[in-house]
Amino acid sequence: MLDVGRHPNIELMAYSEVEKVAGEAGDFKVTVRRKARYVEEDKCTGCGACKEKCPTVLSDAFNEGLGARKAIYSWFAQGIPSTHTIDPDHCRQLNGKKCGICKKVCQADAVNFDQKERMVELDVDAIIVASGYQVFDPSRVPEYQYRQIPNVITAIEFERLLSASGPTSGHLDRPSDLAVKAEIQELEKKAKTSQKMLDKFEQKYEQASAEFYERFCTGEYKEDEDREKWAEKYNAHLALAGPLEALKKKAEGFTVAKRLAFIQCVGSRDFRFYPFCSGYCCMHSIKEAIIANEHEPETTSVIFGMDIRAVGKGFEEYKIRGGNNSGISYIRGRVAEITESPNHNPVVTYEDTRERKVMDRDFDMVILATACAPNKGVEGLAEILGIELNRFGFFQTGASQPMDTTRPGIFACGCAHGPMDIPESVAQASGAAARAAQLVIGSRMRKAS
Ligand SMILES: Cc1cc2nc3c(=O)[nH]c(=O)nc-3n(C[C@H](O)[C@H](O)[C@H](O)COP(=O)(O)OP(=O)(O)OC[C@H]3O[C@@H](n4cnc5c(N)ncnc54)[C@H](O)[C@@H]3O)c2cc1C
Ligand code: SF4
Ligand code: SF4
Repeated sequence: MLDVGRHPNIELMAYSEVEKVAGEAGDFKVTVRRKARYVEEDKCTGCGACKEKCPTVLSDAFNEGLGARKAIYSWFAQGIPSTHTIDPDHCRQLNGKKCGICKKVCQADAVNFDQKERMVELDVDAIIVASGYQVFDPSRVPEYQYRQIPNVITAIEFERLLSASGPTSGHLDRPSDLAVKAEIQELEKKAKTSQKMLDKFEQKYEQASAEFYERFCTGEYKEDEDREKWAEKYNAHLALAGPLEALKKKAEGFTVAKRLAFIQCVGSRDFRFYPFCSGYCCMHSIKEAIIANEHEPETTSVIFGMDIRAVGKGFEEYKIRGGNNSGISYIRGRVAEITESPNHNPVVTYEDTRERKVMDRDFDMVILATACAPNKGVEGLAEILGIELNRFGFFQTGASQPMDTTRPGIFACGCAHGPMDIPESVAQASGAAARAAQLVIGSRMRKAS
């Protein structure tokens, strides 16, 4: 990505959308909407001083909602261009309230609330679609209770938990525990505000709240409105303190997740959803289990699958190494359902097909290997590009020219036209670039002659 940002022949138009494509192979006119970031890309140094001070806290989509971001933010730390963007739906200033803190603290003078989106026209010979995929939504599989059981998460959410730059700095904190910690933080904030209020009364009357309240309850200070208010505030403070202490006690017992279950083929190889194999998920589950064990050597993982599809050079050896060195065991069988024990442990019910037994087993966390699904908005993009989708919703490509779409001059690569891993996506991207270069060279030669 860094190389793309620096390459003299590549102009990167991030935060932009293709609006219209006219013309034909060798002579396309493409209209691109360059959305307003409200931050000047060429001035922003990516220092992050603005987001430090921004008061608006939102759920962080890059971290799958497991962390928080501000209204001015960078999508992720290593993004190119290294710039920030203001979220126009949530920024106070852009929604008519007074703020502008980011503009005041930005030493590069990069924040520009008057920036407008603009349309750019491009003349191109060929187009390559590399719009990727999205993960299948596992809440469509009711028996796995994703969203109902907090410690049942997707593989992509697990990647964010494992990441050193993720919301838990790489610790495998369980979402149920994170929710309790967030509740503690919220209650502590409220308790701090209510303590400040009590401090004012204590200073005014030179008396501790507890002592005052004892006397207030005996009927002293009758018809004293101010002291009645103090008693009310003190009561509200006590109502916070009880639950706060209880939650803190509960949190003392929290440890990171060490007993993991990975469930394969969630949405893939399932005729209710996608009949195909998504290709990469067996390997990413093994990878995630190995990394979890590297982070915390006591971690053990069970990978439940119909079979493990380790297709690629060295992949089978990687799978075996995971079993021998990283505490992974593989169980052949489809998981029938997941329920929850009272301590928030997901309980997996499965048939061990080798033992021919239906079993229940409880884990600290369950990770769902979700199918590779067509990206959102793909129908709209196909319409703009004038190309067809296949029956699953990926871009249709030719059998003999696997990078060619149904419109000459438009090529597709990577997961935009089906599930594949990174090496295969990169190889396809080279193939699509070669097909496009063929066309460009041909059209330049024709124009020159
Ligand atoms: C949990 C998980 C772990 C994985 N781990 C591995 C691994 O370890 N190794 C491996 O080889 N593979 C792994 N994979 C698979 C890997 O993610 C894919 O092979 C790879 O991302 C495919 O690359 P792509 O460029 O085709 O698509 P994507 O990575 O999806 O990239 C597509 C890009 O296009 C952008 N885009 C979409 N629509 C538009 C539009 N209309 N206009 C402009 N931009 C658009 C998207 O924002 C995105 O940035 C993993 C997958 C998952 C789910
Ligand atoms: S103006 Fe908007 S982005 Fe800037 S600090 Fe205020 S809320 Fe955050
Ligand atoms: S790669 Fe593995 S988990 Fe993914 S669909 Fe294929 S068999 Fe299932």
